[in-house]
Amino acid sequence: MAELPTTARVVIIGGGAVGASSLYHLAKAGWTDCVLLEKNELTAGSTWHAAGNVPTFSSSWSIMNMQRYSATLYRDLGKLVDYPMNYHVTGSVRLGHSKERLREFKRVVGMGRYQGMDLDILAPDEMRSKYPFLETHDLTGALYDPYDGDIDPAQLTQALAKGARDMGAKVIRFCPVTAARRENDEWVLTTPQGEIRCEYVVNAAGYYAREVGKLFGRDVPMMVMSHQYMLFDTIPELEAWSKEAGHKLPLLRDVDSSYYLRQEKYGMNLGPYEKHCKAHWVTNDDPMPEDFSFQLFPDDLERLEWYLNDAVERVPILGTAGLSKMINGPIPYAPDGNPLIGPMPGVPNAFEACVFTFGICQAGGAGKVLAEWVTEGQTEWDMWSCDPRRYTSFASDQDYCVAKGMEIYGHEYAMHFPKHYWPAGRDRKLSPIHDRIKALGAQFKPYNGWERAMWYAKPGDDISEEATQTWDRKGPWSPRIEAECLAVRDAAGILDLPGFSRFRVKGPGATAWLSSIITGKVPKPGRIGLAYFADDKGRIVTEMSVMMLDEDFFFLITAATAQWHDLEWLRKLKPTDASFTIDDVTEAFSCQILSGPASRAILAEVTDADLTKPWLTHQSCQIAGKWLQLVRVSFAGELGWELHTKIEDTADIFDAVWAAGQKHGLQPFGMEALDCLRIEKGYRAWKGDLSTDYTVLQGGLDRFIDWSKDDFNGKAALLKEKQLGVSKRFVTLVVDAGDCDAPYMSTLWHDGAVVGETTSGNWGYRTGKSIALGMLRADLAGPGTQVEVEIFGDRFKATVQPDQPLWDPSNERLKA
Ligand SMILES: Cc1cc2nc3c(=O)[nH]c(=O)nc-3n(C[C@H](O)[C@H](O)[C@H](O)COP(=O)(O)OP(=O)(O)OC[C@H]3O[C@@H](n4cnc5c(N)ncnc54)[C@H](O)[C@@H]3O)c2cc1C
Repeated sequence: MAELPTTARVVIIGGGAVGASSLYHLAKAGWTDCVLLEKNELTAGSTWHAAGNVPTFSSSWSIMNMQRYSATLYRDLGKLVDYPMNYHVTGSVRLGHSKERLREFKRVVGMGRYQGMDLDILAPDEMRSKYPFLETHDLTGALYDPYDGDIDPAQLTQALAKGARDMGAKVIRFCPVTAARRENDEWVLTTPQGEIRCEYVVNAAGYYAREVGKLFGRDVPMMVMSHQYMLFDTIPELEAWSKEAGHKLPLLRDVDSSYYLRQEKYGMNLGPYEKHCKAHWVTNDDPMPEDFSFQLFPDDLERLEWYLNDAVERVPILGTAGLSKMINGPIPYAPDGNPLIGPMPGVPNAFEACVFTFGICQAGGAGKVLAEWVTEGQTEWDMWSCDPRRYTSFASDQDYCVAKGMEIYGHEYAMHFPKHYWPAGRDRKLSPIHDRIKALGAQFKPYNGWERAMWYAKPGDDISEEATQTWDRKGPWSPRIEAECLAVRDAAGILDLPGFSRFRVKGPGATAWLSSIITGKVPKPGRIGLAYFADDKGRIVTEMSVMMLDEDFFFLITAATAQWHDLEWLRKLKPTDASFTIDDVTEAFSCQILSGPASRAILAEVTDADLTKPWLTHQSCQIAGKWLQLVRVSFAGELGWELHTKIEDTADIFDAVWAAGQKHGLQPFGMEALDCLRIEKGYRAWKGDLSTDYTVLQGGLDRFIDWSKDDFNGKAALLKEKQLGVSKRFVTLVVDAGDCDAPYMSTLWHDGAVVGETTSGNWGYRTGKSIALGMLRADLAGPGTQVEVEIFGDRFKATVQPDQPLWDPSNERLKA
């Protein structure tokens, strides 16, 4: 057995498919001084018993990217590393039972086509040509994915490990990591075979990730589910068909019934994600064992009976087969079901590649992404959907993780409708006026745990979950959202906005430092401005509002979900000898947005503040005897202010403004209306319109670049891009849409070619238009160009707008 080296550049903890792929990709990137430590044999965790399905389907752009990369890698991996590999590309048929499901499929077909994959929709009569044993009478259609397949997970892991070893990396088996300490800016890991020092460490410990995380002081947000599949004996009819056809059946996924059914030799494998699911190792009477290597849970057939019966009705030949074996194994879940890949929050030189529910099909892509994080500190694709920093400390609570994990598992194949707010794990962080706005009809959704009003229902409105099961713009919410938007346009609206992330930066040198890390100018004291943070490639890392209180004293305000991400970015760029401090004061403050032409009159009744101060200024003042910072900005694009208060004063200030506002027609409005309002102004949304998939120049943010500065993060790359010219450019489109506005990553077409993608879309109630923001090939980005946008499979005409807001283009209302 290989001996444990005393040092390595990177140590990966965990030898499942993901750990092995991480090692392989690090070695491929030239980082061969890397060691993988596995406490048992490779594959001892979830990997050995996985079914090995390798779908490319995902309704998430970045996860589809990862899975597509995996499928491509697996095709040639056996040859590439000279290791036997059972990888069958069988294709798959994903069944749809409803109009809405078919729309989901069509959207994925569009995304797939953009990524170079030829997915297709099958009509019910076409399905039987692919899958002759299928009952189709109650189906609306299917999605055909020719790239879907299955791989032997153990062979995959061994092949990746072999490839990595061949390049010089090391795998040490039977070597559990039992402790970790930081010494001289290095990690020292303890194992029964001795200690190893390393520069970077990666937690790839699968369902043991929480335990491994604790060694680094990190509480990984996750839980463990039991997941089963059933193997059936040979079915003579299937054997005869398969031999004659010369291939296997495509994998079948009945997503509305929630299972997959795969041909396994001449029998079948049925794997349900059952509603009445079971979490493990979450109660005192079911403790997590120290070691569960190569073990399974007891079979639990009862939970699967409904699914078996349903599958037999769908594919009657299954009813003739005997059940030969069951597999019931642990599968980890993060609260949103996506894995954790990226920097370990709050821990230096440490990364995570763990908590995979689909770690076989994602291992290839995940290894690529992880290796980029470690070797370059950034990734080719924007990977926010998998970034560990998308969760903050509230999400590590075990009850929360269990509630969310059970919800996701029980709805593994659910459609994620835009007006459906998942109910589990709610009310983690409540605004002090939560009950007040709830009484006004608020329908809530959490942002970094903070419950925010999305829209306000009136008595009698259908607020059931069933009503939200649609992609359509219209529903019980639409007349309410419209009324909220029009109240903001014609009178005033107030939106309670708890959880805005807020960092206080104070001390000598703070202003000069800020200037060196943002692309634009630092606002003067008393003013507020938007700042863009670019990486060394000029890509958009984040956007924050800079509220300048004094020289070397300011607040940076950013999206609720950006809290840990943005704080880490700032801390990473802070010089070690800096004399200024950066403090996260998010929990101490809150914010209410007051917007609309009557907002000045309302404020005049409750404060002595100077309400003639212009747009982009701020001032300290009092309302109801409480201090607040009154900030003259409006994301809604009307005359308006943000009221930044101490969190404990939220209610007093809200009550005073609310009472004063009644005679002025003040209405509460929610995040849905705010999104409709902001898109009419072309204001970008975090991690939709603003992401590392685009540079600051592509994002159309030229006016936020101060070229006269000596240097700033990303300047060299942006300067080069400016000289060469951008390849694609941010545009606002008005779409002749039907029932739905363009979702994120809808494909843009021109003359039959793919020419761009949307980054967000919504209906503008002030303009009466369907609006999309997006990225378009630069030569087409001029105003008036006609393109088409593909929305749920249909193409709609869209017109490029002039580079100015659709609503109030000269900002007269904003500056009134
Ligand atoms: C029944 C079932 C079917 C599945 N089918 C599929 C499928 O068809 N397709 C798909 O994509 N996914 C499937 N999955 C999920 C898949 O198995 C996992 O997502 C995947 O195996 C995760 O791989 P991993 O490398 O992240 O973790 P693991 O395979 O769990 O590997 C983690 C490793 O870390 C090691 N380790 C833990 N602690 C330490 C320590 N302290 N020191 C050193 N080593 C340590 C463990 O021994 C283990 O080998 C299925 C899961 C189940 C339960």
